[in-house]
Amino acid sequence: MAPAFEQAYRGETVVQVKCPVCEKRCAWEGNRWRPFCSERCRMIDLGCWIDEDYRIAGEPVLDEELEEKKKLL
Ligand SMILES: [Zn+2]
Repeated sequence: MAPAFEQAYRGETVVQVKCPVCEKRCAWEGNRWRPFCSERCRMIDLGCWIDEDYRIAGEPVLDEELEEKKKLL
């Protein structure tokens, strides 16, 4: 029931864990999202990835595309 500890291992100086979602290695200590590498992976694993909506809403590329279209008009 402690997969994080099973995945934890001693590296050169710091304990690292492999993120269960993206399998990226990240530091265990000082990592508030452990055993995940980030809030994003934590949300994905919890099955409540609302990040997508809010990322699309704040997508700066879309704004740039809109500006380009305005120039063409
Ligand atoms: Zn991750």
